[in-house]
This record gives sequence, C-alpha cells and structure tokens, in this order.
Amino acid sequence: MYVFHRADAMRHYLAPRRSSLGFVPTMGALHEGHLQLVRHALQECELVVCSIFVNPTQFNDPDDLRKYPRTPDQDIAMLARAGCHLVFMPAVEEVYPPAWQMPVALQLGLLDQVMEGKFRPGHFKGVAEVVYRLLELVEPQRLYMGQKDFQQTVIVQAMLQQTNLPVALRVADTVREDDGLAMSSRNRRLSPEQRQAAPYLYRALLEARRLYPELPVSEIQARAMALMQRAGLCPEYFDIVDGRTLQPVVNGAKYDYVVACAAAWAGEVRLIDNVTLRR
Ligand code: AMP
Repeated sequence: MYVFHRADAMRHYLAPRRSSLGFVPTMGALHEGHLQLVRHALQECELVVCSIFVNPTQFNDPDDLRKYPRTPDQDIAMLARAGCHLVFMPAVEEVYPPAWQMPVALQLGLLDQVMEGKFRPGHFKGVAEVVYRLLELVEPQRLYMGQKDFQQTVIVQAMLQQTNLPVALRVADTVREDDGLAMSSRNRRLSPEQRQAAPYLYRALLEARRLYPELPVSEIQARAMALMQRAGLCPEYFDIVDGRTLQPVVNGAKYDYVVACAAAWAGEVRLIDNVTLRR
C-alpha cells in the first residue's frame, strides 16, 4: 500500500491506472464502518484510494476540530490489512491552495437548512466543497460513503449532479456495535457512563420504526425524545423526513421514502444516526 501526502505525486502515480478507481474519503480515526466502505470498493474496483483529511472548513465548532481524534499510524495499518491500495493524507494547503475555488456555486436549497444543517451552520458547504476538491484530485469513477451520514449522502449527490462530475455515489449500510450504537470516530471520546447511554439514540429510532405510520409523527417524535432524555442523552432533534427532499413528513401515507434522523449529545460528544422507516 502506498501513502501519499502530496497531490501531484499521487496524481502522477494514478495517471496510468485510472480505469477502475474507487474512492473512500474519511477523516481518519478509522473503525469497522470505514473499513466496510473500503471492502465494498475493493469488490467493485481494481484500485482503491482512501483519503484521511480532517477538513477544517466543515467544523462549525473549533473545539470539535481540536478534539477530533487523530490516529494516523493505526489508520494506515488498518487500511493495509483491509487491502486498500493507496492512502492520501494531504495537508490543508494541498487541498486548498490559495487560488482554489468551487467551479459552480452550489444551490442546496432546503437540503442544508434542516437537521445537521440547522444545528451546524456552514457544515455542509464545507463537506460538499472538500468532497468536490478530493474528487478533482483523485478522479475516481466511484465514490463510497456511509448511510450513517444520510443527509451528507443526499447533499453530495446534489453536488455531483450540479458539478456534472462523472462519479457514481455508492452508499453502504451503517455498521453498528453489538448494542446498536453506530460506529463513529467520536465514540472513543465517550466516558463509560456516556457509552452506556449512547445506544438509546438507535433505540429511539427503532421505536419510531415500530410506531410509524400508526401514530402521528409529532407523537412519535415526542416519545423518541423522551426515551433519549430518560437514558441521560440530550437530544438535539428527532426528525422524520422525506428521504429525497429531507423535508418533514406531515401525513405519513403520502410518502414512499421516509427516514428518521436524530442527533443527541452524550456529555460533550455529539452523536447522529438514522433509520429508514419506509422505502
Ligand atoms: P468520517 O471519517 O466520519 O468523515 O466518515 C467517512 C465515511 O465513513 C463517511 O462516508 C461516513 O458516512 C462513513 N461512516 C462513518 N461511520 C460509519 C458507520 N458506522 N457505518 C458506515 N459508514 C460509516
């Protein structure tokens, strides 16, 4: 496995090998969820590139950026064991040279005004830009991302359409711990007590799946928020949305693709998760 820090060196290496390229962008502190994306890519592509880049422009909270876990040596060892071919670990200046800018002004409409977008202003603009920029450097045919960050996948799909990049987005299922907690790099910051409370985010989502569409959406939301609060979590939102527009579902019967999405704090660690209620 090759590790590149410089974009030009990586691009020089990739130039004759571009015919079947899969790309997995990450922010490192890797876990089984990331490795599943790599394995998925290995099944479909001859060459798999994984990037590790903690993108400063998508952090609305400087403290979150400072405390974001960084385990580069461990990450490289895990990727090598998984069979990844190339790791790209650029510095900030490599990704954002002074004159760089997005070629089109993205029109995300209401997609980034709800849920994560509402609580993390500017976050998705940063995500869409960094994914675009990394795709520009790597030039893969396929891009692999996780359902865990559902809203992110919808926004990246919109970005791909608006920029006309010839890249197919593949979305892989959320990988969970045995008790249901979605794997996340931030989980390693949980205290033992917070770790006990954390799976209640998923339990609240499963409860919504059990109750939908029999109960009104507002009633399901109230029950889910109460369940998380009783477990010691501080829920931020619990939304039941149209899986395409991300707008709230009002009358359940009218929609054919419905996703419940939630965010909650366990102490200082912010957790997000989602389950599909109907598809
Ligand atoms: P991150 O390093 O958190 O930016 O995540 C990099 C990619 O891994 C994103 O596409 C995430 O959606 C995906 N990912 C993170 N956690 C999981 C998980 N538990 N299951 C599946 N995919 C995940």
